[in-house]
Amino acid sequence: MSNPILATIECDGCTGDASIKKLNNSPLLYLHCKTCGMDRRSGKQLQAKWQAAIDGKSDLPAVIEKAESLADEWSPPAESDPENKDENSGVSGKTIAVGTIGVLSVLAMFFKAIKG
Ligand SMILES: [Zn+2]
Repeated sequence: MSNPILATIECDGCTGDASIKKLNNSPLLYLHCKTCGMDRRSGKQLQAKWQAAIDGKSDLPAVIEKAESLADEWSPPAESDPENKDENSGVSGKTIAVGTIGVLSVLAMFFKAIKG
């Protein structure tokens, strides 16, 4: 399974779109650009810049400082995978509904057959 994309920023290598992601077993963020590949630099300033992009903030130095101080407490937000959860529950819910309708229609036929 690939890691979820936390944010997308402009790649400083090719100016294309690069995805900010995070390894499950590491507190560090990394960048993945389809053109330039993986960028796993661990410098504080760069990590703070990526964190700021995730938080939807601009590149102002003051914001970077704030992002840095919050970095230790940061944990993945709950809304980071509602897409997957919704998708899964939607599929299973639909499957259950279809199954229930199937059972009901079989029962209906059964009772019709008895009455008839
Ligand atoms: Zn690039």
